[in-house]
Amino acid sequence: PAVSAMEVVDAQDVDFNDVGGLEEQIQELVESVELPLLKPESFTRIGISPPKGVLLFGEPGTGKTLLAKAVARRTEATFIRVVGSELIQKYIGDGAKLVRDMFEMAKKKSPSIIFIDELDAIASRRLNDTNGADREVQRTLMQLLAEMDGFETRGEVRIIAATNRLDVLDPAIMRPGRFDRIVYVPMPDEEARTNILKIHSRFMNLGEDVDFRKLARMTDGASGADLNAIAMEAGMLAVRFEKESIGMEDFFESAKKVMSKVENKQEELP
Ligand code: ATP
Repeated sequence: PAVSAMEVVDAQDVDFNDVGGLEEQIQELVESVELPLLKPESFTRIGISPPKGVLLFGEPGTGKTLLAKAVARRTEATFIRVVGSELIQKYIGDGAKLVRDMFEMAKKKSPSIIFIDELDAIASRRLNDTNGADREVQRTLMQLLAEMDGFETRGEVRIIAATNRLDVLDPAIMRPGRFDRIVYVPMPDEEARTNILKIHSRFMNLGEDVDFRKLARMTDGASGADLNAIAMEAGMLAVRFEKESIGMEDFFESAKKVMSKVENKQEELP
């Protein structure tokens, strides 16, 4: 059952064209993940080792998973994904074994990219040793560190992790030879919001009045995931009213709805 906690995908359906904004972040991933896999000699020639692990951090729904999948596609690498919180919740007692299995699978199916989502769930430093659950998390983390220390940086396994919180991470995880490249994934600015809205409605039948710039100006504070929701909801409205295409008023309506949720979320923040 441990293996089922891992999602293993041989071919990705996402590429960098599906990512709005984040040009610098894409560049960083190309250099630290793609290049070592496709052109390892560029590193050997210069005499440096590529970073072993890349840590993406940023708010929820900003495209961290999307970036990892897109780089997997470019390299035609097997994509192995685990979620930190699932590792320890569903598989109590088995987290360390799962980490071991994951690295074994990655080597067997190389070239491969291991993606650990919600890294903070297993690599948080605010753990005390007193209860069993925390000890289990500790064991899982120790196994991860041991696996990372044990593999060859110039090999065909790359590792990417994502977190919403950098401040809670155990600094041990960010030492050289572990997650030694940290990439911040920001919320989209107006330009990026325009692009993300376009990406998510590129297969939709749009009315001539649809103005993504205007929508981008109205949606300050929306993440990529929120913008995806806005496009989908606008489509649903057009379906509900049996329209031929999606008009600006559908987008206004759906943006209003999604943005009110975004604002409620922001009020809940400490
Ligand atoms: P979490 O921290 O919640 O895991 P995440 O940063 O990994 O979030 P994703 O899972 O990559 O976020 O994004 C969720 C969805 O939101 C994506 O599948 C995509 O539809 C949309 N999305 C997010 N960011 C972008 C972006 N920059 N460009 C296009 N779509 C985006």
